[in-house]
Amino acid sequence: MRLPVSLREGLRREAVNDHSPIEGERLRAHERRVARDLEYLGVPAANWPLPEPAADGAVPIDVLVVGAGMNGIAVASSLLFKGIRNVRILDRNPPGREGPWLSFARMDTLRSPKTLPGPALGVPSLTFRAWYEAAFGEAAWDALYKIPNAVWVRYLTWLQRVLGLPVQHGTRVVAIAPGERLHTVETERDGVPQTLLARRVILATGRGGAGGGWIPSFVDQALWPDLAAHTNDDIDFERLKGQAIGIVGGGASAWDNAATALERGAARVDMYVRRPHLPQINKGRGSSHPGYYYGWSALDDAERWALFAYLNDVQAPPPHETVHRALRQPNFHVHLGKATRRATREGDRAAVLLAGEDPPRLHDFLIVGTGFAIDGGAIPELGNASGFVARWQDRYEPPDTLARQDLGRYPYLGPGFELLEREAGECPGLNRIHLVNHAAALSHGAVASDIPGVNVAAERVSTAIAASLFKEDIEPIRQALEAFDEPELESTPFFVR
Ligand SMILES: Cc1cc2nc3c(=O)[nH]c(=O)nc-3n(C[C@H](O)[C@H](O)[C@H](O)COP(=O)(O)OP(=O)(O)OC[C@H]3O[C@@H](n4cnc5c(N)ncnc54)[C@H](O)[C@@H]3O)c2cc1C
Repeated sequence: MRLPVSLREGLRREAVNDHSPIEGERLRAHERRVARDLEYLGVPAANWPLPEPAADGAVPIDVLVVGAGMNGIAVASSLLFKGIRNVRILDRNPPGREGPWLSFARMDTLRSPKTLPGPALGVPSLTFRAWYEAAFGEAAWDALYKIPNAVWVRYLTWLQRVLGLPVQHGTRVVAIAPGERLHTVETERDGVPQTLLARRVILATGRGGAGGGWIPSFVDQALWPDLAAHTNDDIDFERLKGQAIGIVGGGASAWDNAATALERGAARVDMYVRRPHLPQINKGRGSSHPGYYYGWSALDDAERWALFAYLNDVQAPPPHETVHRALRQPNFHVHLGKATRRATREGDRAAVLLAGEDPPRLHDFLIVGTGFAIDGGAIPELGNASGFVARWQDRYEPPDTLARQDLGRYPYLGPGFELLEREAGECPGLNRIHLVNHAAALSHGAVASDIPGVNVAAERVSTAIAASLFKEDIEPIRQALEAFDEPELESTPFFVR
């Protein structure tokens, strides 16, 4: 018998959320297998960079990774595997709260299929599936539909532990002053400031890491904080119980927020979507194969721009599970072809003026689901130095038919994801800062944002950093080679002292 879609989805959610505790002999055995796999591969290699001490004699950190989410984990592991061991990873959030998964990613499960390997760097025992089967059993794997957010976070947390990653949680990177030899990094933990020196910095700061959440100019900032929130904000849905909510935008997060608000007791949700119909095809999935991952950066600027403009124009639909979830709520109303002209405060209500309508529609609260801004000139940790970052508009002028202002603000990255100066000499040292988040997509393809490409970005960045540290340290490395005196022939008659 074929169940109606809504019932099927409900059963799936119940099944996937039934997860028993994961400590146990099977998982411990699996962790021994991981250790063995790493031993077979000879990783992590012994440390080899030989940095010069700083003026006060302190040894600088070779690579500071900002962000211990999926990309931070992958790139740090890849560096350690290559023998770059003087690495530190900082995340402003406490353990298990990295990334969007348990805060503003308000879907029940990941949107990606369960079969993705995750940040496993080619090691089978480090894949999501291997961990999941060890933690919950093969039958549970077979029954799993998609990965619940909380389960994905447990996997990422496990990776941090099993790989012994040097993560310091609860530590925010407040400012980075780029230096030609060393970057000065100001951090803050429990209100205590600390200054670190690092030779390279990797910004694995997530989807909003270069530009933040985007709020269109037609949404009045005076609505904050009591009458509006961005979907990325920490929203108190308890407070929205019984209220009439307006949502601007029709992307996946807008739908997740609509469903969450109604599930948590909102009286009514009206979602306003400019497009007359939702995007139908997820071209991101269609472009999710190794050709795109390895080939994108080999395209010339015009080819990359044209391809990205195409992907950006068509947009992705919300996942069908998300749509069904929202549609299960009787008080959900979606209005297609309704562009918002203005959203303003009117007394204690949010007034949404739609194209071709007057007066505005009134809501108790407005949720703005308009995604992220990407801007190489707005990397918060860099402060004013961000203004020196080369963006696509500085390097490439598209034909009129492909002119897209928002794409022009993407950072124009070098082959190892390094930032480049807009004008040579304006901010030396920028090219020792690597941006490994979604803002890299125009330069490198979607390898530093979603799960499928994560290993490719990590490998590319760590290889580039290994090469540049080797070049920089070649003097002491050469001296160490000359001092290397392990006698090979000591046990033979040909040994000469
Ligand atoms: C709502 C939503 C749903 C998504 N769903 C999917 C999905 O289903 N499948 C998929 O493949 N992708 C999905 N993505 C994309 C998703 O962002 C990535 O897959 C994943 O989170 C990227 O990992 P990351 O390491 O780049 O960033 P994040 O996971 O966001 O990690 C970045 C980390 O950097 C830390 N950080 C930032 N700034 C600082 C600072 N100054 N100091 C210290 N720490 C800092 C943050 O605390 C955070 O932990 C989704 C994104 C969103 C927003």
